[in-house]
Amino acid sequence: MQHRKILLTENDIPDHWYNIVADMPNKPLPPLHPGTKEPIGPEALAPLFPMELIKQEVSADKWVSIPDPVRDVYTLWRPTPLYRAYGLEKALDTPARIYYKYEGLSPAGSHKPNTAVPQAYYNKMEGVKRITTETGAGQWGSALSFACNHFGIECEVYMVKISYEQKPYRKFMMNTWGATVHSSPTDHTNAGRQILAGDPNSPGSLGIAISEAMERAATDDNTKYALGSVLNHVLMHQTIIGLEAVKQMEMAGEMPDVVVAPFGGGSNFAGIAFPFLRLNFDEGKTIRCVASEPSSCPKLTRGVFRYDFGDTVGMTPLLPMYTLGHNFVPAPIHAGGLRYHGAGVIVSQLLKDQLIEARAHDQLECFEAGVAFAKAEGIIPAPEASHALATVFAEAQAAKEEGKPRTILFNLCGHGHFDLKAYDDYFSGRLVKHEVTSADIENSLAMLDTPLI
Ligand SMILES: *Cc1c(COP(=O)(O)O)cnc(C)c1O
Repeated sequence: MQHRKILLTENDIPDHWYNIVADMPNKPLPPLHPGTKEPIGPEALAPLFPMELIKQEVSADKWVSIPDPVRDVYTLWRPTPLYRAYGLEKALDTPARIYYKYEGLSPAGSHKPNTAVPQAYYNKMEGVKRITTETGAGQWGSALSFACNHFGIECEVYMVKISYEQKPYRKFMMNTWGATVHSSPTDHTNAGRQILAGDPNSPGSLGIAISEAMERAATDDNTKYALGSVLNHVLMHQTIIGLEAVKQMEMAGEMPDVVVAPFGGGSNFAGIAFPFLRLNFDEGKTIRCVASEPSSCPKLTRGVFRYDFGDTVGMTPLLPMYTLGHNFVPAPIHAGGLRYHGAGVIVSQLLKDQLIEARAHDQLECFEAGVAFAKAEGIIPAPEASHALATVFAEAQAAKEEGKPRTILFNLCGHGHFDLKAYDDYFSGRLVKHEVTSADIENSLAMLDTPLI
């Protein structure tokens, strides 16, 4: 019998997260105040986040200990299995050896609870009563609802109106875990009222929902805000994925030549890739790490590296990142989680320094790979995860053309059970090949007046 799964026990759950900042040759540049454009210190974040998360956000310690109550919740689904994709290798007729880490076994069905749980925990420890957040398709909102429920904190989610209406099942999940879900824009924040005054039928956007959730937290002492990607502490929490995967690859008796993950803001990519990059830094290994983004929102492959806002409205600090411009509106493709205009600061610096790579894929190529994977391995991938698969297919093909083995590891960061409508659209021919034009990108970037680097 071939061994498909490489399993750890609960005792093997890592007791520290890895903070890659300690090893980066060029440290991330500081965030700037949105008004004065001067560097801001950690205290500027205090209205929004608990102190412990702010400390982690600016920490240069290489290892940050995972509190026992967090590890205890992690045992609900961690350690996650690492699979050898024998079925896929056969289907692709490739000499490549393909492995994947499966994060779809968490209660919310993706990697997002890996950070939702510690974020809820640190808020609880500091006496916070309520956490607000935004959600697009609902993956982050459901992860945070689950985590808040566990620690007895109220959770208030601003869900983009169009998703609220078209994708109700994630909302029902959030309700099941006790969260309040608003269709954003609402009339109970200034940001929401302002949008509704201009357009009472606004379909909402992630940028608007962020502004509403942040305003709630900034104006209520008992309320804080939480973000599911992009920020340094979020990326660090996700390294639990790669720390487990390093152990599992060692158990399999090999190391990946290339590590692949889909890329929205960078959290699941960082999660699997950073612990392997550590081996490059510490042990001189040469493991390639590749981020896979949609060609409809290609900030890593076609964006610019400069300061930009994290939201559409321009409320957040200015962050040094690869961006398409905060006014960039991606085409309404279905891989909702990857439609963000910018990339996390750490990942951006690593790309700038050529320590990681990026590829962009059209959505038809991704769904084709996703369906082939489901047929070969059984698990139906989240549309976001299918972007990694498109890169994996290209790597497997390259190995075949070279006639040489290569070991590929990718992050299957979530299942697609709530995204079957997108699969239906693909099967019915309603999805089109989509690539932004250079003019679209140039127009969006021309609107930026944020500081250059
Ligand atoms: C949110 C999400 C993403 C994109 O976010 P990252 O921070 O880049 O990981 C990708 N896949 C799934 C399944 C998600 O839920």
